Amino acid sequence: MENIKQTLEDANHDYYIYDLTRLRDRISWIRSVTKHDIYYAAKANSNLKILETLLPYVSGFEVASSGEIEKVRSISSEVPIIYGGPVKTKHHLAYAIEEHVKSIQVESLFELDYLKDLLQDTDQTIEVMIRINLSNIVSNAKLKMAGVPTQFGMPYDDIDEAIQLCKETERITLTGFHFHSMSNNLDEDAHVTFIESAVEFTHQYKQHLPEDYSINVGGGIGIDYDEQKLFDFDYFATRIQHLPQLTFELGRFITGPIGYYAANVFDIKSMHNKTFVLLNGGTNHFRFPKAWNHNQPFEIIASEDTVGRIKTIRDDTVVFAGKLCTPNDVFGQPYNISHIKTGDWVVFKYAGSYGYDISHLQFLSHELPEIRYI
Ligand SMILES: *Cc1c(COP(=O)(O)O)cnc(C)c1O
Repeated sequence: MENIKQTLEDANHDYYIYDLTRLRDRISWIRSVTKHDIYYAAKANSNLKILETLLPYVSGFEVASSGEIEKVRSISSEVPIIYGGPVKTKHHLAYAIEEHVKSIQVESLFELDYLKDLLQDTDQTIEVMIRINLSNIVSNAKLKMAGVPTQFGMPYDDIDEAIQLCKETERITLTGFHFHSMSNNLDEDAHVTFIESAVEFTHQYKQHLPEDYSINVGGGIGIDYDEQKLFDFDYFATRIQHLPQLTFELGRFITGPIGYYAANVFDIKSMHNKTFVLLNGGTNHFRFPKAWNHNQPFEIIASEDTVGRIKTIRDDTVVFAGKLCTPNDVFGQPYNISHIKTGDWVVFKYAGSYGYDISHLQFLSHELPEIRYI
């Protein structure tokens, strides 16, 4: 916390702090324990310094918008890009082709129609993977798409037509399937089972695929916001080492732990028997704990300032609130606190993914949080 403390120089601002050294160590470790391809899912945190730091270590980037393509291309004209997302218009697809993405995850026949159209008068080719909603497989030979219905993936009834469309379109090569299907999974064995299902599914379509077909198992490896159990990636890596080459698109697992969101305690109020700690920040800047309605792990950095008005509380359960004019502006559930005073900093941990990037930064037009790198 000492190097974080040094960055918190001005209580008039709130801060994101990204530890780029830790990020480098983390991605090196992930790379070093597995033979499989590790892409970084840009939506977790698309900050350019983060992308640049990851660039030498990752196989490429997974993106889901023209804006993310633009960001990745701004740091490298060559790094492989996998482009996905449930609604890709003809316009989006044209841009992706123009920026020569490596592969497009298709999950709609409309996308294949557009690609066919767009490539017709060019000399370009594109690789596609079909996104599959693999929530359940019943029996070993017959495949059934079942389980939680979501908007993601190619409807099972369209898969044959999609394969056919790829076959008859010379400029489109179907290279495999894409299975991203969960978020924040902490169970290594369950993840292995999911991957085995993906491998098995792909195997059954082998005759439609090139010899070096791809199996993209997406992201979804979790970090434990209760700090009870780590996803044991070393163990997980040994369990998948024998499998054919896989592609991962990890977001949260890579950047989550290397980021912090810090805001200064402005006031402490007791209102109708409830204690509110008001931070000079808000869910407009760090929406995540509210979105998940959970307790975000945090540390308090005590202020050494002793002049002027100071309010202190001890051993209390408090609501951390921000500066937005809505009672919804609270950082998740109430927290147990042993000691806090005005002027202290509350530093939320695990804010490196889905922190800045999922926050509604424009709401109330406050100044943006400052970003610091350590
Ligand atoms: C969000 C997303 C990821 C990354 O998910 P994490 O849970 O952050 O690892 C990977 N692939 C796709 C297609 C996604 O939508």
